[in-house]
Amino acid sequence: MDTVKKLALSRDLDDGELSALISSDRFDGELREQADAVRRKVYGDAVFIRGLVEFTNYCKNDCYYCGIRRGNKNAERFRLTADEILACCEEGHALGFRTFVLQGGEDPFFDDGTLCGIVSSIRERFPDSAVTLSVGERSRDSYLELYRAGAERYLLRHETADNAHYGRLHPSVMSAENRKKCLFDLKEIGYQVGSGFMVGSPYQTVENIVCDLRFLKELDPDMIGIGPFVTHSETPFANFESGSAELTLRLLSILRLMFPHALIPATTSLGTVSPTGREDGLRSGANVVMPNLSPVRVRNKYLLYDGKICTGEESAQCVACLDARVRSAGYRIVTDRGDVRRDGGSV
Ligand code: SF4
Repeated sequence: MDTVKKLALSRDLDDGELSALISSDRFDGELREQADAVRRKVYGDAVFIRGLVEFTNYCKNDCYYCGIRRGNKNAERFRLTADEILACCEEGHALGFRTFVLQGGEDPFFDDGTLCGIVSSIRERFPDSAVTLSVGERSRDSYLELYRAGAERYLLRHETADNAHYGRLHPSVMSAENRKKCLFDLKEIGYQVGSGFMVGSPYQTVENIVCDLRFLKELDPDMIGIGPFVTHSETPFANFESGSAELTLRLLSILRLMFPHALIPATTSLGTVSPTGREDGLRSGANVVMPNLSPVRVRNKYLLYDGKICTGEESAQCVACLDARVRSAGYRIVTDRGDVRRDGGSV
């Protein structure tokens, strides 16, 4: 049996078979076709929208690839107030969003009390909507308090599951071990958990990617976000090339086949390295898009990488643009919380 069919039938591939799929463009057509069939079986043609609110670009960490790392003294810092965050959600709700993703650097200003207050206000004001947090590594107690305040989902990319590779992308105070512990804590508390990795990050090997896929199998997340590494000029990786759309698309299809139920975004970084990146991402197995609801005045300050798209448009314009892109790719945006479908049932 050929490797793609084996994967589509949920059979485990050995490391050699996975490496062969990752390294060659020979299977791309078949991978995309099978991935699309699987996503249609589980989610039909639905694409879920998540309203992204980037609320702080302060961060205590210094990840070598990130434009808002502590060490970038040229980053213009901002924090949104609780009222500003709620106003973004208000606008998003009127536009049909039923999930709000609060994303920020690891900013100690947003301690548990402050963040819990914001989460519970959103849940009270919009009881039909889900709150997703993406605020990095915190203690188990902190995750528990936030969950009790009403956050049901958490995004924390592991970025690379290989310890040595992790050490080449981050300062020594950070570790893959702690990142993984956080992910398992979140899962055990009851969150719908999202993880993922960068494609084409400096020093990444095919073996590293196999290790990422193996780690994701172990974690079994509900959401999986991958995107190409995109260079930022004010980081230690300024001279590295960005990752490719081609490999990212191939991996999106592999992930869809390995995780039929997963909620997988076609990311902004994919749209940044290729003008049709998000449409191609949807055709390759992705089923989520995350338009930006942050106020336009702060959009160009949340720059994790250079050339980020969609920093100038108002939220309504972003939604209209994405709606057209989603339709052109052959899918449709739905107004729905977009919870994970673990039953694997068809729509
Ligand atoms: S990647 Fe995240 S944790 Fe690392 S510096 Fe950037 S915002 Fe901070």
